[in-house]
Amino acid sequence: MNLKVIAFDADDTLWVNEPYFRQTEERFYELLGEYSSQHELERELLKIEIANLSLYGYGIKGFILSMIETALTVTDNNISTDVVGQIIDLGKQMLNQPIELLDGVEDVLKSLKEKYRLVVATKGDLLDQERKLKKSGLSHYFHHIEIMSEKDDANYLKLIKHLDIQRCELMMVGNSLKSDILPVLNIGGFAIHVPYHITWAHEHIEDSIDNERFKSVDCIKSVLELL
Ligand SMILES: [Mg+2]
Repeated sequence: MNLKVIAFDADDTLWVNEPYFRQTEERFYELLGEYSSQHELERELLKIEIANLSLYGYGIKGFILSMIETALTVTDNNISTDVVGQIIDLGKQMLNQPIELLDGVEDVLKSLKEKYRLVVATKGDLLDQERKLKKSGLSHYFHHIEIMSEKDDANYLKLIKHLDIQRCELMMVGNSLKSDILPVLNIGGFAIHVPYHITWAHEHIEDSIDNERFKSVDCIKSVLELL
């Protein structure tokens, strides 16, 4: 390996994210409990979120709109404005959450910064991701922040071009096999999977990965043992 850049996913790699979505979903199911079962609401919400991704992109704002749309769908447009207001409030609470760094993140960044250029490669809402990075206090470790609308091969290639490096000089570290690992392996980079205990259903993949440029570790601190 002749790595120059190590890119980190942000949500559920550097800091806690998915549990806040789960907590909000639980409160949403309670709010709509008299109209529909949790199972039905879960299914409808996921379907609507995925259908809306190409319109709204990833992130909390799109999630709020999808919850409102789900509420309208399951109640046949009979939702009260009060419930709509409560859904909007749930979203605002998410946007105002403090940042909770994952264990060992800062030690890893501190140590790797000495040898490599560090980058954040995340998807989601631009304003929200910038806000989280600022609140995290981690900004100074990073040479570049890339906020992508979708983490696919083409966008990782754009990042490589922007960083002016070869494909094999990039390593990506992240919790999503689908977004952080597979596309980077596809284009010829290295990837380390650091699983998080909760993954959004849309990020699940069934395949197992067999690639000499791929490693999986239990926690982010173990990344240091591989470099
Ligand atoms: Mg992530």
